[in-house]
Amino acid sequence: MQQSTLPPATESAELIWRDGVPESATFGDVYFNRDDGLAEVRHVFVGPSQLPERFRQVSAQGHFVIAESGFGTGLNFLAAWSEWMSQRPLDDNAILHFVSVERYPLTRSDLVTALSHWPELRQLADELIELYPPLIKGTHRLVLAGGKVRLTLHFGDIAEALKQLTFKADAWFLDGFTPSQNPEMWHSGIIELVAEHCKTGTTLATFTSAGAVRRSLIECGFDIKIHPGFSHKRDMLVGQYTAGQPSREPAGGHSVAIIGAGIAGTALAWNLADRGLSVLLIDQAAEPGSAASGNPQGALYVKLGVEYNTQTELAAMALSFSQRFYGAWQSDFWHPTGLLQLASNPQEADRQRRFCERNNYPSDLMVPVDAIEASQIAGIPIRHPGLWFPGSGWLAPAEACARLTTHPRIKTQFDCQIASLQPCNNQWCIRTDRGEDLHAQSVVIAGGHEAAKLVPLPGELKLKPIRGQTTQLPEPMFNLPRTVICGSRYLNPGINGNATTGATFDLRDNNPTPTVASNQENLEALREMLPATSTSNAPDADQLEGRVAFRCTTHDYQPVAGLLQGSDGTPVDGLYLMTGLGSKGLAWAPLLAEYLGDVITDQPRCLSSRLAKPLETRRLYRT
Ligand code: SAM
Repeated sequence: MQQSTLPPATESAELIWRDGVPESATFGDVYFNRDDGLAEVRHVFVGPSQLPERFRQVSAQGHFVIAESGFGTGLNFLAAWSEWMSQRPLDDNAILHFVSVERYPLTRSDLVTALSHWPELRQLADELIELYPPLIKGTHRLVLAGGKVRLTLHFGDIAEALKQLTFKADAWFLDGFTPSQNPEMWHSGIIELVAEHCKTGTTLATFTSAGAVRRSLIECGFDIKIHPGFSHKRDMLVGQYTAGQPSREPAGGHSVAIIGAGIAGTALAWNLADRGLSVLLIDQAAEPGSAASGNPQGALYVKLGVEYNTQTELAAMALSFSQRFYGAWQSDFWHPTGLLQLASNPQEADRQRRFCERNNYPSDLMVPVDAIEASQIAGIPIRHPGLWFPGSGWLAPAEACARLTTHPRIKTQFDCQIASLQPCNNQWCIRTDRGEDLHAQSVVIAGGHEAAKLVPLPGELKLKPIRGQTTQLPEPMFNLPRTVICGSRYLNPGINGNATTGATFDLRDNNPTPTVASNQENLEALREMLPATSTSNAPDADQLEGRVAFRCTTHDYQPVAGLLQGSDGTPVDGLYLMTGLGSKGLAWAPLLAEYLGDVITDQPRCLSSRLAKPLETRRLYRT
């Protein structure tokens, strides 16, 4: 849409980082008095891009990608989404991807005000508002309309976004303020980047008819035509990319086998099945979530670094994506009680002090609290300050794994050991210990610390199991909080008469049986961190139940998700690895599943290339 002026950069949004310019803006009248906005969107973008016809032509397993410069209120997005829903049959699996960039994102409350202008889009707007991400720089993925619509929303500058994002558009909407007012969004370097995200036949529509923009577009390979503009605007531009490669039709009926039915494997199975793929989920155990994902309760948390580097950004994105993902399972296995991360020792207090000085996270993700506020939030006396994550909580991991296998396109094979994994006739053949051969076009190894021995390549992978024992605390014998508390231990609120605390971190111990010593260690650490939880009739360690599991960690404590590479970096076609989630599997799994889902189906990636790089498998080889 044409806007005449660039909004002033002000402090309106809660954004982002203290270092650097405030990247937020108030939009005032620019957005809030636009009764003809929807007619304009249809005239400038929907019609000239021939969306209705092209949407109808997408195959039942296919996808269509719209890319946009300038998300603003999301009106273009909602209009495209609404058109998609009206053109597609109710029961298909095709996906509309919308990739948009916004340097000055609206706050949620400004978004509510702006979108209230279009009652006909109310239902879609409400869903967008509900899932609107925290205002953190970087790439956010929103899964809407039950997975039929996926929004990749990058908060940051367009140039940086287009260098980092991986996608090819079917249609480009060049929006943004007028080129004369906002030249940095329209210069030839940006148009070159736009062209890099095109394939033969990609269309382009823009409200502007500025000569410089038209010339740049032609130079970059677009065939450009002038169309009548909207309302008082005489002209606008419509184009088609004539250079590049034609689009590849997605292969229908793609089958994927996933080895490992923990939270990584089941989240991925759900993700792929939801995109229309047939999934075979295999595990040696008798049921899903039997190993590291089998504790009665698990906290949803990440530790955000003092520096906002790639690792921190990945962790923040994983946390916020997982909160949105689990939000759909609230009446089921997800308990959004909020989570306190306590500064329970001098080192952590110092770390949190530096973290708070350095960063300014939006309050919907995280707020620093003092000991009094922490006590009020948790409902028990707490002596330490900490960080409050209002959108976090805990889940019942084994229940989560079980629910995530219930998709009708997932078949399961439990009690099934893998004897070998080999390529055969452009597929993978999985031989089981029963002598049965299972086939799939792609295989994902998500077998925790046992993944290493399943990889059919020479070389040893740097994956190690770390023992963790949790302890069950009977409810009347302990004072339990109403939120999750993390520090040197985590403690969950009670459920069905028990609360889970833990876990030990036993580097050189492979004992699979719970021990009294580990229960004792958990109790002592808990007493130290939260003395108020103890009561006079608290039982001894030998009267408590424990559970042992082995987390799978990598040498750099970062997870792994991607196409398997040999030690020389050569990719192995159709074979993927997803493991190394450590003790943060509940937070990592949904985003990494979404990312691998994008990779396997060749859809726009939810992670920038900078964030995807540290997930690669090659780094795992011992040299
Ligand atoms: N498509 C929007 C909608 O449907 O509401 C309207 C977009 S508005 C006309 C232009 C947007 O471009 C503004 O929200 C503005 O903040 C954003 N913008 C301006 N310069 C930018 C830049 N360099 N990088 C990314 N976004 C930018």
